[in-house]
Amino acid sequence: MIGDQAIVTRFAPTPSGYLHLGHAHAALFAWRAARQAGGRCLLRIEDIDGPRCTPAFTAAILDDLAWLGLDWDGPVLQQSTRMDAYSAALDRLSALDLLYPCFCTRTEIRAEIARAVRAPHGPEGPLYPGICRNLSADAHETFITEGRPYALRLHMARAADLAGPLTWTDRAKGEVAIEPEKHGDVVLARKETATSYHLAVTLDDAHQGVTLVTRGEDLFPMTGVHRLLQALLGLPVPVWHHHSLLTDAEGARLAKRSDALSLRALRQAGKSPAQVRALAGFAD
Ligand code: GLU
Repeated sequence: MIGDQAIVTRFAPTPSGYLHLGHAHAALFAWRAARQAGGRCLLRIEDIDGPRCTPAFTAAILDDLAWLGLDWDGPVLQQSTRMDAYSAALDRLSALDLLYPCFCTRTEIRAEIARAVRAPHGPEGPLYPGICRNLSADAHETFITEGRPYALRLHMARAADLAGPLTWTDRAKGEVAIEPEKHGDVVLARKETATSYHLAVTLDDAHQGVTLVTRGEDLFPMTGVHRLLQALLGLPVPVWHHHSLLTDAEGARLAKRSDALSLRALRQAGKSPAQVRALAGFAD
């Protein structure tokens, strides 16, 4: 159980577009959870995806959040400044013999899945069919020397063996057991980016001392990977609270492309911060 004073939450947007009402809901959820407990709320900009994330979107996010009336405890962390930490964690996992390079293209993976008699699916779609899992060290050397681009995948079976059974706690749903086989050999470093969402989010929640991870329920199925990485890397284990997602009048989830519901558009249409907070589900 965490003492209320110790509650540290965070809002962690990806600056690949403008914030919309769904983001405002997530931001207010994290902010209120901290403020009501007398705890702290942090802001983290998840800008590891180079071409999609721009400084202009980061600036717009900071501006929209300030307009909405939210303030943050401590400096804003930008993930793009944390590449050394991600790389050190990859080295640790590699020293445990839990990573392997994957040279597959998306097309090769799709073709292999189409050929397979059984193609298990996980929360992120069909699981990686393991093409590169058993490549010899010699083949790795050769491909890397040839300059073939590669991703780094977690050898999930070995990782699960090493970590043993694990559970995590969701403040709304209770205790959840992780099911490593449902995730398959997830990518921890991409060909074009030397990290991944799973690795960066796990390391940064620990680095920032986050004790209560609040986020949308769409990410609930991914949390098992984060819990496993915490165990493998000896990181502290927070509590999670996955909240439901705002939907539009037709019941569809608000996505970044719902431009009409971007905070920019609502501001331009003359809405006040209090009106937008109410639309995001947090009436004053
Ligand atoms: N950056 C992620 C997003 O914008 C959120 C990550 C998280 O809260 O764990 O969807």
